[in-house]
Amino acid sequence: MTNLKNRLALTYAILIVLALALLTLAVNRLTKSLFSNLVRQTISERSEEIVRTIAEQYNPMTGSFNQITIEAAGMFFVHEGYIVAVETLLGDSVWNARTCDMERCSLVIRDITERMEGRFGVKGSLQSNRYPILFDAEIVGYVDIDTYGPFFYSDAETRFLSLINHFLIIAGLAFILISVGISVQLSGVLAKPVTLEFEEGERRKKQLTQDVAHELRTPLTCLQGTVEAMIDGVYAADKERLESCKDEILRLTSLVEDLNTLSNLEWEGLKLNKTDFDLSQLLEAAAGPFIPAAREKGIEVKLNLRESPINADYDRLKQVFINLLSNAVKYTERGSIVATIQKGDKNWDVLVADTGIGIAKEDLPRIFERLYRTDKSRNRGLGGSGIGLTIATAIAKAHGGSISAESEEGKGSVFKLSL
Ligand code: ADP
Repeated sequence: MTNLKNRLALTYAILIVLALALLTLAVNRLTKSLFSNLVRQTISERSEEIVRTIAEQYNPMTGSFNQITIEAAGMFFVHEGYIVAVETLLGDSVWNARTCDMERCSLVIRDITERMEGRFGVKGSLQSNRYPILFDAEIVGYVDIDTYGPFFYSDAETRFLSLINHFLIIAGLAFILISVGISVQLSGVLAKPVTLEFEEGERRKKQLTQDVAHELRTPLTCLQGTVEAMIDGVYAADKERLESCKDEILRLTSLVEDLNTLSNLEWEGLKLNKTDFDLSQLLEAAAGPFIPAAREKGIEVKLNLRESPINADYDRLKQVFINLLSNAVKYTERGSIVATIQKGDKNWDVLVADTGIGIAKEDLPRIFERLYRTDKSRNRGLGGSGIGLTIATAIAKAHGGSISAESEEGKGSVFKLSL
């Protein structure tokens, strides 16, 4: 059971982790692609903003640029990752970040390259773009902006991405922990009934095989012994011995028939052929054949009948009455057998009471199990297979009914069929 539970838990956990991994991968890819598009747009907008800022420094009166402001702004742009160079329409340099501070420019580019290649796996190179500086719709100069391309993350964007990554890792771990917990719970809930049912089924199968083997062995050993003794001349093959052999053969035949009926009921399910009839008529018909045998034993058979219409399977119910009545006759030596039909909780109750050997308290709950026979009935050599009550119970259940028994050892038993 623990094995099955563990295996189920492991399977669920693996499935959930795989699903999570796929989901995380998909979310990661989507986020990266959306974010990089956003960043590309930001870079392009920032470049245009830089060009506008520089254009504002153009003085049309002098036809020159405010170099001091451009230098201050330009160093700030370098810090952001934009290496700017401004020149006039004639190609004269107004300001160039590289000429101004080559070391800082190289440092910034190296930092960005390391960050983008090492941390984000984006292999790129320095890309240059030239923008015209317009004043009153006329070109007055050019701005060259070098940036790491195809795109690069600024410090703020890098911090934002690492925050998102941390959040994803923590959420992923929490999800894994929760899913492992759920898997363990789920496998426990599912494994329990499956395993218990399976183990119970296996136990019953083994028990049934053992019981059937035992039930077949006894009459066969008896037959074998008698026949061998007759062959060896130890016993005479007289009528009495042959009759005893015939009895054993009949017992075997009835056991095999009972097993066959039970197997049909259990494997094929019980298909009922319901019709309307009166229970009294059925009980009378079922009891008829037992009356001579009971009389022979000095037992009185009494039927308390009443009008009792029912919609049920006539032949199957007859089988139930035959099983109950044959038991009553079989296990009663003196006194009486009384079958009564009365109004019950559901519809009708049929009581079969006898004054026979009775059933011990500890046996009572087990007599409905297949092949179960009390020691008393075995010791007395009363025949029987221990299947009759199992068949009767299956038929009663198929009708939505039940069979119960009350008994006192040595005094008798009452079997109640409720329909
Ligand atoms: P069997 O063919 O052995 O009678 P059943 O399934 O009908 O098989 O009954 C199971 C066991 O219950 C019997 O072997 C017997 O020990 C006990 N039993 C059933 N009916 C009676 C009864 N009327 N009086 C005493 N014992 C009974």
